[in-house]
Amino acid sequence: MLYPSQFDVIVIGGGHAGTEAALASARMGLKTLLLTHNIETLGQMSCNPSIGGIGKGHLVKEVDALGGAMAAATDEAGIQFRILNSSKGPAVRATRAQADRVLYRQAIRGRLESQPNLWLFQQAVDDLILEQDRVMGVITQLGLRFQAKAVVLTAGTFLAGLVHVGQSNYQAGRAGDPPSITLAQRLREIQLPVKRFKTGTPPRIDGRSLDYSVMVEQPGDDPAPAFSFLGSSAQHPRQLPCWITQTNLRTHDIIRGGLDRSPLYTGVIEGVGPRYCPSIEDKIMRFSGKDSHQIFVEPEGLNTHEIYPNGISTSLPFDVQVELVRSIQGFENAHITRPGYAIEYDFFDPLGLKHSLETKAIQGLFFAGQINGTTGYEEAAAQGILAGINAGLSAQGKEAWYPGRDQAYLGVMVDDLITRGVVEPYRMFTSRAEYRLMLREDNADLRLTEAGRLLGVVDDARWRCFVEKREAIAREQERLKSVWVNPKLLPQEDAERVLGKGIEREYSLLDLLRRPDVSYSDLMTLTGAGVGVGDSKVAEQIEIQAKYQGYIARQQEEVARHQHYEAMVLPLSLDYREVHGLSIEVQQKLNQHKPETLGQAGRISGVTPAAISVLLVYLKRSQ
Ligand code: FAD
Repeated sequence: MLYPSQFDVIVIGGGHAGTEAALASARMGLKTLLLTHNIETLGQMSCNPSIGGIGKGHLVKEVDALGGAMAAATDEAGIQFRILNSSKGPAVRATRAQADRVLYRQAIRGRLESQPNLWLFQQAVDDLILEQDRVMGVITQLGLRFQAKAVVLTAGTFLAGLVHVGQSNYQAGRAGDPPSITLAQRLREIQLPVKRFKTGTPPRIDGRSLDYSVMVEQPGDDPAPAFSFLGSSAQHPRQLPCWITQTNLRTHDIIRGGLDRSPLYTGVIEGVGPRYCPSIEDKIMRFSGKDSHQIFVEPEGLNTHEIYPNGISTSLPFDVQVELVRSIQGFENAHITRPGYAIEYDFFDPLGLKHSLETKAIQGLFFAGQINGTTGYEEAAAQGILAGINAGLSAQGKEAWYPGRDQAYLGVMVDDLITRGVVEPYRMFTSRAEYRLMLREDNADLRLTEAGRLLGVVDDARWRCFVEKREAIAREQERLKSVWVNPKLLPQEDAERVLGKGIEREYSLLDLLRRPDVSYSDLMTLTGAGVGVGDSKVAEQIEIQAKYQGYIARQQEEVARHQHYEAMVLPLSLDYREVHGLSIEVQQKLNQHKPETLGQAGRISGVTPAAISVLLVYLKRSQ
């Protein structure tokens, strides 16, 4: 056949995981094919039109540091940007942007179409080509066969997707898109560990039918921050405000009155939903003492009147949806443009994955995104870039790469997924990371860009900017160390303004910067401080590193203590029933989880420190 049918890497699915995976593999120079249901929906946001937030923004910055598309696309599509937790410490500060859906899709599609080594093809994949326990390619709906050394599956909510609105349900991947039924059946036949989750979305509203005068306006930050390390606010389109309103007791009564026809409360929906994005009916039932719940009224884009009422996700019958929406202040005349719904879908138990996101059962087959039991665009994109990189490495016969828990939220997420599994859709929070102070949004580039360059996913332009920034930080830190000032010899007013009272002796500028109340910009106004750096990103880094040096050093010591165990590899073929001294419960857990390292074994719930000592002895003996 003339059409190319032999690839290094095939990616199935053009959502947030699939697009990052395909772009990463192609950036590595590998011949990559992205197969998706519909080219028009590449980069489609299935639910809320926003990117980032606490924990999630960290993942977006990490994807960006590895050369990924999400942050840069958000800079081109974002219609409102905010830094959340801006008054708190740098570890928990997070960027969040409201995005114009259409502009976001265009930004992603533009990148895919201009990416060398990447082929796009619109076709549903119905089957995998397997030879024993190795994947060799895929077969599409038309019976076309494409071969590859590695395949990344990122089918999102589409596998055996079932949409619910009240008592009605129908098969779909999400509203308006076909489900993936044949592939789901095939994956069940090859005995991958399948389970069901559900998620939901609110009805969309025509903004012209709302009364904004009774809502609270929520503007974005001014100046608006950029998401990408290479981005700038000059790239942002026109900015729009969001609005806040709330539910009331009447809304709650209407919801309670509809529960006898709710698929969630009549046992029709079996899958578990995301705890942290509950439906409005869940919120009313779980927090029955609350008189109201906040609703963020978010614009869907610059060229549409549709709005997204964030906070009232629901699968109640449509007549109840209309009544509950119109009971909300400012929504009395609301016209619903799309009903809210819930969707149940297949996902695969992530305990069946390696750190590289390769399945343990089938060599060369990688899973990323919602199908691994996560929820959210950012979680999907981060897994996508990792799976794309590792599919690329695997196609070249190279060792897998993955960041540790001390290097990236991406490392935390993957380790959590594959070590602990999931009982509900997994979303990222800063509280999931034990080394939070080291894993900040502001230093994602310093943590990951060099690794990305070695892997081949960071291009020359990003690398040049990164090296310049890293060198500027190091140069200025050296200078601050070498310039000493004695406040007593400075004009008193000058010294007190910048340093406060009570500094009796000579200090280096770096030591002075470590003081909580001394800012870098003020320090540079001191007589004798010299000319500081002009780049605000460089200055921010110098200030954060100086102020938190003590805490960071302590976390680094802790990391070093744990590293020893992380480097001790446990063979996947090891049958733990042969390791004497382990309890039957621990043997069963280890045989079920098959941890890759001793460190990972220690994080499995129920695996005690005593069991780790037994394993340590076993490993030493068998060396
Ligand atoms: P998706 O974005 O779903 O993309 C999957 C892609 O795979 C699609 O392009 C599809 O066409 C393609 N595909 C599937 N099967 C095949 C096949 N056989 N052949 C070829 N192509 C295929 N996240 C939140 O964080 N909060 C929420 O409140 C929330 N609510 C949601 C509500 C709904 C109704 C839905 C549908 C999703 C919701 N999400 C929510 C989840 C969010 O949309 C996903 O986490 C995210 O889109 C996952 O990205 P992904 O790349 O894994 O999959």
